[in-house]
Amino acid sequence: MLFSALAEAFKQIEAISSRAQMTARLAEIFRQAPDDAAILPYLLQGQLGPPYAAPDLGLDEQRIAQAIAAAASVSPDEVRRLYDQLGDLGLVAEHLLPSAPRPLPVQDVYTQLRQVATTVGVGAYVEKVSLFQDLLQRTGGQAARYLVRIAQGRLRLGVGDATLLDALSVAVVGSTSLRPRIARAYSLCSDLGLVASRLLTGGPDALDQIHPTPGRPVLPALAERLPSPAEIIRRLGRVIAEPKYDGLRLQAQKDGDRVWLFTRRLENVTHAFPEIVRAVRQQIIADQAILDGEAVGYDTRTGQFLPFQETARRRRKYRVEEMEARFPLRYYVFDLLYLDGQDCTPLPQRQRSERLRQIVREEPNGVISTTLQVETGDARELETFVAEMLRRGLEGAVVKRPDAPYHAGARQFSWVKLKREYREALADTFDLVVVGYFYGRGKRAKLGIGSLLGAVYAPDRDLFRTLSRVGAGLTDEEWLRLREMLDASRVATKPRRVDSEIVPDVWVEPRYVVEVIAGEITRSPQHTCGKVDRQPGYALRFPRVSRFRFDRRPEDATTENEVIEMYRMQSGHGAQANQRRNGDGS
Ligand code: ATP
Repeated sequence: MLFSALAEAFKQIEAISSRAQMTARLAEIFRQAPDDAAILPYLLQGQLGPPYAAPDLGLDEQRIAQAIAAAASVSPDEVRRLYDQLGDLGLVAEHLLPSAPRPLPVQDVYTQLRQVATTVGVGAYVEKVSLFQDLLQRTGGQAARYLVRIAQGRLRLGVGDATLLDALSVAVVGSTSLRPRIARAYSLCSDLGLVASRLLTGGPDALDQIHPTPGRPVLPALAERLPSPAEIIRRLGRVIAEPKYDGLRLQAQKDGDRVWLFTRRLENVTHAFPEIVRAVRQQIIADQAILDGEAVGYDTRTGQFLPFQETARRRRKYRVEEMEARFPLRYYVFDLLYLDGQDCTPLPQRQRSERLRQIVREEPNGVISTTLQVETGDARELETFVAEMLRRGLEGAVVKRPDAPYHAGARQFSWVKLKREYREALADTFDLVVVGYFYGRGKRAKLGIGSLLGAVYAPDRDLFRTLSRVGAGLTDEEWLRLREMLDASRVATKPRRVDSEIVPDVWVEPRYVVEVIAGEITRSPQHTCGKVDRQPGYALRFPRVSRFRFDRRPEDATTENEVIEMYRMQSGHGAQANQRRNGDGS
């Protein structure tokens, strides 16, 4: 496929508002260019690789403007003048650069963009700008507009993973019926380019050849909620219960001497946790392995675990050694996804747990430990276990079905979490994606932010639907920090994947997730979460931000269905509480 044709497709997609039409158009692109399938998903999302390995182009606005000026042989002042007039550097490039006579293939453009991104070191900027300038000259016209947007990280076609999965299915079988198989393959490799190229060149059976492999993260399995130990035993039968650590979910991967660490957001954070890297080499008795676990910081003086926020501070690029000394970590591993050439995800939980314990060399002061486990079919015993975990300052328990496989990337009843909030009949915490904010009045007006508009994720429609306006819970400093981050992804109009009837003062790209705690869930005509036809949606009462959850992708936010389910659970609690109050409970 030629890049100019892809740019034309970008333009058409921008004009489409229905998800079904967008899926159909994307499917057509895949059908037209099966040989480019390995890179099309990245470009459609404005990226240069899968999420765990996509380099940044590394050109700021000034350098991009410099490249445009050089490509068009005009002065930087002229570019600035046009920028003021058109308000978009992409349009400036399109205006100044005529379409090149010999259009470039998508593959060549992608290779050169990667070259720009991976050119680093002394004097790299000169080389980067000149490579980008060359690319602009060799494309020009509409193609230049979209190249500039990719460079700015502003392509924003609104193509989410879920829509791409549907489109791939439609491209191959004409309907979305293949989606579960495609999604399963994707969950094992987190690379839509790999999935697309295998599927389009080898057909659906080629998807079965995709297995977990060290170097590529597996999408983490997620836990469902149930209100009580009794409910869990009733639904799951005999279970394995483990402590629920409140730290940073980390997947550790090993291949010989090489080690990788990935977050739940699929970021490669290997460099940030050198002690875990060393411990994987020393304490894991296997040549190749993929482990799932939670890293938790602790206080060396008291031996107590640190709150999540402190642990999260370790995820940084600089002054790593200093941070290691100040906030040492324990890495509690609770699952094994791959071992020496074998995909362990289809194995039952009990077997995975046993194998995991065979390959971890427990050491008195070792960084890596396996989690404590209790197996029971008795609700009271489970209750005691949860109470003990809470007493020890843990978040609660994660209860697992011994015969279930590892459901990569899915929230299923094979894992159920039990937290303090449930015992207190609170609705639990919500991970909301910030889609906009309001300026605020009074004291807050000075901060330029008074409250934020939070949304949940609706995976079936690949949309973010609003659940709450949240104006409490943060200090002035935190509000300011949040506003600065949000301003960097501010957009003029409602982002495409946002479904909202409320219009905030500022719209932002759905990127940042915050955890919100609330008194209860209510029905509300204002919010779009759960809204169908004339039925009202859902909202939160007394919401406040409890912490930033920037370790999450927007798609990891609480889902619309979870809110509906939690509302039901909460109503159940309400009924029980009323019964008790009326004295007719047992
Ligand atoms: P929460 O905010 O309640 O932690 P979550 O959205 O982060 O929820 P869930 O999948 O709903 O994630 O809950 C399970 C989470 O608990 C995992 O993501 C993991 O980070 C953490 N966890 C801590 N201990 C365990 C354990 N023993 N087994 C599985 N997950 C655990």
